[in-house]
Amino acid sequence: MKQKVHPNRAIPSVGRILRETVDHSLPRPMVLKVIRKTLEAIRNDSDALNAETILEQVNTELKALADSRIQPVINATGVLIHTNMGRIPLANEVLQATHKIAIQYSTLEYNLRKGQRGKRGSYIESCLAGLCGAEATAVVNNCAAALVLVLKALTDDTKDEVLISRGELIQIGGGFRIPDMLVAAGARLREVGTTNHTNLDDYQRAISGRTALILRVHRSNFVMSGFVESPSRTELSKLANEAGIPLFEDLGSGALIETSRWSSLPNASKPQDALQEGVDIVCFSGDKLMGGPQAGLIVGRESLIKKARQHPFYRAVRCDKMVLAALQIVVETYLGEDDSLKTIPLYKMLEQSTERLQKRAEKIVEAWGGRRGKLSIQPHNGKIGGGALPEAQVPSIALKLNIPGLSPDALADKCRAVSPPVIGVVEKDALVLDLRTVFPEQDEDLLSSLLAVSN
Ligand SMILES: *Cc1c(COP(=O)(O)O)cnc(C)c1O
Repeated sequence: MKQKVHPNRAIPSVGRILRETVDHSLPRPMVLKVIRKTLEAIRNDSDALNAETILEQVNTELKALADSRIQPVINATGVLIHTNMGRIPLANEVLQATHKIAIQYSTLEYNLRKGQRGKRGSYIESCLAGLCGAEATAVVNNCAAALVLVLKALTDDTKDEVLISRGELIQIGGGFRIPDMLVAAGARLREVGTTNHTNLDDYQRAISGRTALILRVHRSNFVMSGFVESPSRTELSKLANEAGIPLFEDLGSGALIETSRWSSLPNASKPQDALQEGVDIVCFSGDKLMGGPQAGLIVGRESLIKKARQHPFYRAVRCDKMVLAALQIVVETYLGEDDSLKTIPLYKMLEQSTERLQKRAEKIVEAWGGRRGKLSIQPHNGKIGGGALPEAQVPSIALKLNIPGLSPDALADKCRAVSPPVIGVVEKDALVLDLRTVFPEQDEDLLSSLLAVSN
């Protein structure tokens, strides 16, 4: 029952609300801000003038605020590179290295031998050059930054046109659109060919005195089939070479190893292959198939990389020491024994056999026992994600959760509201939890979250 009292008397004091709020983990100024904002809103709505309602609303707002913090979640979607959930986890070794560099002074830009200023990232860059068979490399914050930097560095007032096939004017998640990136880089887009068909002649005819470079873009999150044609790298490289303009490829999710080593996967484009096939400069992400920290890696001809490094924009997109410390470990991992690659969590997850996933599922189902609702096991197809190998399916094992009276959507909501939050896949008749992207060490947490949901 709502009581109609004189408005100002019904409103509890900020102090009282503060005492009675549930979440005490948020910084006090943030809590106060929420309380004041809620009170403000309530003053304009006399129907809600009831201490209980007010407290309830404050607590709801606080929970929403607390939930918006970056925090761990259990990714049970089976999407390995999940951009919304931090793309990929990093190995402990990587974090330890980062920690060591972060809490002390380091040689980030200091040359120990000479006792003077040194070049940021020089060791990583030479390792990466070795890995990719590149003359030179540069490392920046992400692949988008790499793309814009290279475009800026390789265009100028007299040569500002970038040739790109209409079939590669893509958009990937988060509003990243190739044409917009070109504009942001101050380059002029010169579209070539058609959506599904672009041949060498189309490029040839588009080349003019204003052409700065030819750009090839990995389509990432979609595929085209049917009446489709585009020139091969070698053909395009020959043309670019003859015209004296560089060929630049944005690989997005480039892989440094053959992904077909996992039987369910085709091979992803490798930067080393692109260079070998004549591409002059290539960029790719550090936190997609490479399995490292967020970074944009640029590899290719020394003269072009030098231009990128010397461009003023490089200063705005260079990596910080923690990323470089992490990247150093990851790059060294690739230079080590093949076995050491298994320390890359992305590969560790891919390595898990469905038999092993099945065993884990059985253990969880056994511990679930006769709870309210039904937990069963079913095969599931996971995905690589991150715009890498969009058609590939990763055979996996999933738990299937049904609770009477709860729709799969309602179940998904509940799973996200417990701690740790569990993100699954809503299917027609159940919530499905793919175990490949859940670490074995998280199985107990997963179970306890599911038990909390069933209560
Ligand atoms: C993912 C992707 C990018 C963006 O990479 P970030 O590292 O997230 O900036 C750019 N280009 C292509 C083709 C991509 O697939």
